[in-house]
Amino acid sequence: MKQYETVIGLEVHVELATRTKIFCGCSTEFGGAPNTHTCPVCTGMPGSLPVLNKKVVEFALKAGLATSCRINQYCKFDRKNYFYPDNPQNYQISQLYLPICHDGSVEIETSAGKKTVRIHEMHMEEDAGKLIHDEWEDCSLVDYNRSGVPLIEIVSEPDMRSAEEVIAYLEKLRCIMQYLGVSDCKLQEGSMRADVNLSVREVGSDLFGTRTEMKNLNSFKAIARAIEGERERQIELLEEGKVVVQETRRWDDNKESSHAMRSKEDAKDYRYFPDPDLPPIHISDEWISQIRSSLPEFREEKQLRYQEEFGLPPYDAGILTESRHLAELFEQTAACSVYPKKVANWFMTEVLRLMKDQGMEPEQIRFTPQHLAALIDMVEKKEVSGKNAKLVFEKIFLEDTDPVAYVQEHGLKIVEDTGLLESTVGRILDENPGPLAELLGGKDKVMGFFVGQIMRQMKGKANPDTVREVLLREVENRR
Ligand code: ADP
Ligand code: MG
Ligand code: ZN
Repeated sequence: MKQYETVIGLEVHVELATRTKIFCGCSTEFGGAPNTHTCPVCTGMPGSLPVLNKKVVEFALKAGLATSCRINQYCKFDRKNYFYPDNPQNYQISQLYLPICHDGSVEIETSAGKKTVRIHEMHMEEDAGKLIHDEWEDCSLVDYNRSGVPLIEIVSEPDMRSAEEVIAYLEKLRCIMQYLGVSDCKLQEGSMRADVNLSVREVGSDLFGTRTEMKNLNSFKAIARAIEGERERQIELLEEGKVVVQETRRWDDNKESSHAMRSKEDAKDYRYFPDPDLPPIHISDEWISQIRSSLPEFREEKQLRYQEEFGLPPYDAGILTESRHLAELFEQTAACSVYPKKVANWFMTEVLRLMKDQGMEPEQIRFTPQHLAALIDMVEKKEVSGKNAKLVFEKIFLEDTDPVAYVQEHGLKIVEDTGLLESTVGRILDENPGPLAELLGGKDKVMGFFVGQIMRQMKGKANPDTVREVLLREVENRR
């Protein structure tokens, strides 16, 4: 069999996290009772007029500048005409001729190393409503809450060659958008959606094959399976001497196969024309430079800085910077602690562990940075045992408890009361003549048993080093 190469380009829709819709004042909030976030504009009533939400342009500019795009400082909206019940105006307001951003790129990293994926363009548009097919009542219902929610569509060049590259690209876009705060990019909730354009060609050929477009992909796993399935389907056709038809296909992740939805439509099928209700947009140099200077420190820069500043291995620095929220919480905690490296350890172990146990997203973590810093301080000063500190941290993590007060109230502070410690050691030795004999006979392993017993009696409020010292002394006295 011949050797084939897969060629993939993506169209990614990202829902922007503005408070209100793109052309009216309705809420963009996800969910809500059907048709409660609606008005004459977003339900396409005759005579209603759209008014552009400036925040949408600002967010699109942020996304464009963060992906090294060039900006069309004079840009316009166009009407894309098609009939479908989730589209009440019978056209979607989008951008065709002068999209806001073009010619950008992002760098991705896969097991094969670094690679650049070029972005052809990025345009603003409105989302459609949602059809709900009620099989029980045998009818379809429509909810316009999503109608008019702002989107940017990011169109890549056909630069990707594998599912691994596609996923790295999507993760990169998601990370950038989340750092910018312009979208939460949740595939499951549909705030990030990817259409996969795929063709195959013989290795060595410099011509592209005919592509198909796959829709309905709502997880990275589904995307990977769809790519594999479509690649095989196309290769099989070519091997049989048939041709690939340019069409839109729907991937059914349960059946792990796709079927044709419709033949591919061209721009001319949509009868695009400039929207007469919306004036062109002029984007000033000042606005661009203002947005450029407001861009945050992104993940890669943070990752490098963490390695230098906190001596973290690249892997750890990668984990701590995956979410901007987690990274900022870590930085704030490190900033108010005299043990910043210990703070990094606590995040890598306890914070991540509790997050996983609680099934939480990083964005849901809410504790006061000073609280964890104060706890670490007590541990380092040997005022609380490591074991108790973990219990106290659970309280901080779940209820944002003040650790100093908590340790005081629950009597968890290590007491350097050597009188109490000495009598406890003596008593434990008396109660365990067998192990004591073994210890005197030179069996050092029994030390661990005694330290454990004593720590338990002291309810963890003793410093293990001191326990060890006192224990050795008492044992010597009994020789
Ligand atoms: P349209 O607007 O008609 O959907 P475009 O030419 O703008 O078509 O391309 C849409 C997407 O398809 C882009 O992401 C592009 O990279 C990708 N694409 C174009 N040609 C191919 C091809 N032969 N193989 C794979 N992907 C392709
Ligand atoms: Mg397209
Ligand atoms: Zn509205």
